[in-house]
Amino acid sequence: MVEFADVVKRFGDTTVLDELSFTVAPGEFVSLIGPSGSGKTTILRLLMTLERVTEGTISVGGEPLSHMRRGDRLVPADDKHLAAARRRIGMVFQQFNLFPNMSVLRNITEAPIRVLGQSRAEAEERARELLDLVGLGERAGEHPSRLSGGQQQRVAIARALAMRPDVLLLDEVTSALDPELVAGVLDLLRDIATTTDITFLCVTHEMGFARKVSDRVLMFDHGRVIEDAPPERLFTAPREERTREFLHAVL
Ligand code: ATP
Repeated sequence: MVEFADVVKRFGDTTVLDELSFTVAPGEFVSLIGPSGSGKTTILRLLMTLERVTEGTISVGGEPLSHMRRGDRLVPADDKHLAAARRRIGMVFQQFNLFPNMSVLRNITEAPIRVLGQSRAEAEERARELLDLVGLGERAGEHPSRLSGGQQQRVAIARALAMRPDVLLLDEVTSALDPELVAGVLDLLRDIATTTDITFLCVTHEMGFARKVSDRVLMFDHGRVIEDAPPERLFTAPREERTREFLHAVL
């Protein structure tokens, strides 16, 4: 579903991703872990087309994201291609990024109406189903500022799901939350991951969550995957010294 092939990303002289290759299968839940600055967020930003690769290719569902086919050649993607590719990918951010001046319901219906062309009635029906799913069915008419951080993050999750993404990117989704709200949000994501066929890429410092929910964990260091294993193996018997050091520091 998601493939990075020899991806290099440089900012000026700094190489952030260094010939990075990995694949994520459809429906898989893959967590990205590793030290600060190892390039995890850059991977999500490339998938959201907020950044462009310096070299290499990224594909989603077999279609190149950064490039498009013209005859038998690949040429850099134009805006229309990027917009179509981006539509298949949702993201939930650390700072929920809700629209503060819109009700909870409108936060969820805005993109399906504007981008997917859904009717207001159709978008609202789906938004109410999603609000029920995330436990906020009663709060549809309120503004986000009236909700707790955990509730705002649930709205952000519902908003991402409303776009029916094939791939959902999670970037440190609990790090702005009060500790007592973290478990509820993680349990919700776990339920969604196990009951849908969405492919997840999750950047997290929550090692307990990564261990419980992931099918695979990728350990990053200096813009490369240095270990790629099922969570039980990676957390109990890491093969690389760097992984052992990292886990020792964070666990
Ligand atoms: P963290 O766990 O702290 O979020 P990370 O693994 O997600 O770290 P990235 O945010 O991907 O790391 O950053 C990787 C490196 O790229 C860092 O050294 C960062 O300073 C650099 N970087 C990221 N974005 C830019 C940019 N727009 N311009 C210059 N350097 C950047």
